[in-house]
Amino acid sequence: MKAPDENIENLLRVDRVVYPTPETKSRSYIQDYESEYRRSIADPEAFWDKVARELDWFTPWQRVLDWKYPWAKWFVGATCNISYNCLDRHVKTWRRNKVAVIWVGEQGQERILTYGELFRQVNRCANALKALGLRKGDRASIYLPKIPEQIVAMLACARIGVIHSVVYSGFSAPALESRIRDAESRVVITADVGYDRGKSINLKGVVDQAVANCSSVETVVVVRRETPGVPLAAPKEIDWNDWLEGEKPVCAAEPLDAEAPLYILYTSGTTGKPKGVVHVHGGYMVGTYITTKYVFDLKEDDIYFCVADPGWVTGHSYIVYGPLLNGATILTAEGKPDYPNPGRWWHLIERYGVSIFYTTPTAIRLLMKYGEEWPKKYDLSTLRVLGTVGEPINPEAWEWYHRVTGGTRPIMDTWWQTETGMILVTPLPSVPLKPGSATRPFLGVEADVVDRQGKSLPANAGGFAVIKTPWPSMMRTIYKDPDRYKVYWETIPNCYTAGDVCRKDADGYLWFMGRADDVIKVAGNRIGTAEVESALVSHQAVAEAAVIGKPHKTVGEAIKAFVILKQGHQQSPALIQSLKDQVLKELGKIAVPQEIEVVESLPKTRSGKIMRRVLKAKELGQDPGDISTLEE
Ligand code: ATP
Ligand code: MG
Repeated sequence: MKAPDENIENLLRVDRVVYPTPETKSRSYIQDYESEYRRSIADPEAFWDKVARELDWFTPWQRVLDWKYPWAKWFVGATCNISYNCLDRHVKTWRRNKVAVIWVGEQGQERILTYGELFRQVNRCANALKALGLRKGDRASIYLPKIPEQIVAMLACARIGVIHSVVYSGFSAPALESRIRDAESRVVITADVGYDRGKSINLKGVVDQAVANCSSVETVVVVRRETPGVPLAAPKEIDWNDWLEGEKPVCAAEPLDAEAPLYILYTSGTTGKPKGVVHVHGGYMVGTYITTKYVFDLKEDDIYFCVADPGWVTGHSYIVYGPLLNGATILTAEGKPDYPNPGRWWHLIERYGVSIFYTTPTAIRLLMKYGEEWPKKYDLSTLRVLGTVGEPINPEAWEWYHRVTGGTRPIMDTWWQTETGMILVTPLPSVPLKPGSATRPFLGVEADVVDRQGKSLPANAGGFAVIKTPWPSMMRTIYKDPDRYKVYWETIPNCYTAGDVCRKDADGYLWFMGRADDVIKVAGNRIGTAEVESALVSHQAVAEAAVIGKPHKTVGEAIKAFVILKQGHQQSPALIQSLKDQVLKELGKIAVPQEIEVVESLPKTRSGKIMRRVLKAKELGQDPGDISTLEE
């Protein structure tokens, strides 16, 4: 039975379809998504089995999947190592001299590591970890700015079966401390400083504070970037170079069970207290490998630029593991998109001939504020495939991104989560695009939109986004909290509930409409935040918008909007009215905000997502809950 009060209104209509150019289509791995998808879903285990065979395993699996709802084991009985697949597999071939990582620092420094050099550094680091007594199953916390040592440390841990917990270097001492305590890490790897808009940030000071009360930490390794070097208290504190000095550049990758934990990583904390998600070597390797290859149509000669920080899951899956599994050349750059000026990323694309560029809607909206003259200054003709992740991309921002990059490059709006490990809903370059839609499920993935009872909803009815069957890179548990893990599979019986609301149009395209927690109930209608925000941002005066529901005597909840204006626009009663008119025109009467407040900034997580629960708590004078991931 349909439960109408649970279903989400569908208000936004976008009719535009953007077809791939013949060139894009003819050169892509997957040219006929429909038939490949049907085949993959008819027998997902056969599909994943075939993909897994493209990688190296020490011993083969007996079964592809062991599914004891809600617990999954993939590639049962196999042994492997993700670090081996990222490095050894390539250094045995001509790729040993191929560039693996191009790193650009905030002050323009450049470091280039070939696969051979990365292999040697990772091996030295793995031997150094062993020299400290670290063994398979131990934990190491990595609290580094975006420098190559971050990648080296991750792969070194993986190589010997040490579980890494990367903590984004923008986090404060209490947030770092709670993550070190949770993991009971024996070692913390950090740097003296990180750089942010020209200022140096004292990371070592944060670590000192964080580890003061962590009895598990035996050693703190420090990458010293400044001269003279920050003083270190031996024997607990060691300089990174001294640590690696004398270590051999050879360290055999440990054959690990496919289900051996690879890392713990916390979610962004947008909707509440961050969850410590656990991923494993085997399945995670298979999922990130194939999504990187097919979604970005990654080829041998591409220069792949993902702007995320390895402190987030996007960095884990699509800077480090996915691209290196594919033997790609990665560009990674420290710093912000608008420092020293808003041409920063466009300049890097021109300078390094970037062909694949993966960013976020938040960053695009920020760059939109500075205008099209910035991208116009640069030669962006090398670009081939574009991507976004993290939030719904509003059609306005989609069109801008598409236009300034030449008007023909396909944009992969990739939907996924820390918990899912890999991209689950996404276009492929050969698929017709609809601006604002993440389009279709990836091969082997069964996604749907359902009501609370788990029943599929008809076309264009809004409901809960779910995944109906397990996939290899799904999280295996929440660290030390298996009950919290079960909630994902038990909220709606027999499927994985993502916590997002969504609708599926008549062509099967998925349109994400925001978080289930943020849905606003106006006079019996349930409205997703994304559509209202998108309508506001389509007004020429608005740069960013966030909406919340406020209790209302007669209609249940009333919509309140917070907007940031673009440069050159002033607040006035006429402007507020014209914003309301815009929403009326785009979505209809029920979505028109009762109140609109012009603000200078919006509360965001450190990964750049709008925290509507913080806006709401402030508005209602309530406790905002866990705000450890709120950006200052
Ligand atoms: P928490 O789970 O702690 O509240 P979070 O959900 O923001 O934080 P992440 O795992 O970083 O943590 O983000 C995943 C979420 O980001 C998704 O559930 C979805 O809400 C949003 N998201 C990611 N990509 C997209 C996309 N392409 N379109 C729409 N929403 C997206
Ligand atoms: Mg989440």
